[in-house]
Amino acid sequence: MATPTTSGQRLRTCRACGKKFEYPVKGNPATRHHCEDCVILPPDTRKILERLNTRVTQLERELKLLQSKVAPPAAPPAPTPSVPAA
Ligand SMILES: [Zn+2]
Repeated sequence: MATPTTSGQRLRTCRACGKKFEYPVKGNPATRHHCEDCVILPPDTRKILERLNTRVTQLERELKLLQSKVAPPAAPPAPTPSVPAA
């Protein structure tokens, strides 16, 4: 993974919750991969969050792809419900 060498803070995306956060921040417990909210979670919980976040990210990407591929046509007229004669 190519990491651009920059001195100072960088905007990172939390692996567990997807939040964007600055790293490193003095006095902030956040790590390279986890924001300050997730870094305090038990590793097992964080692992599950990471898994879910991966799925969400993947789904978002696929959804975006689908939306760009399929330009939705004008809303089709709703089928008229057959009303039984009284
Ligand atoms: Zn987080």
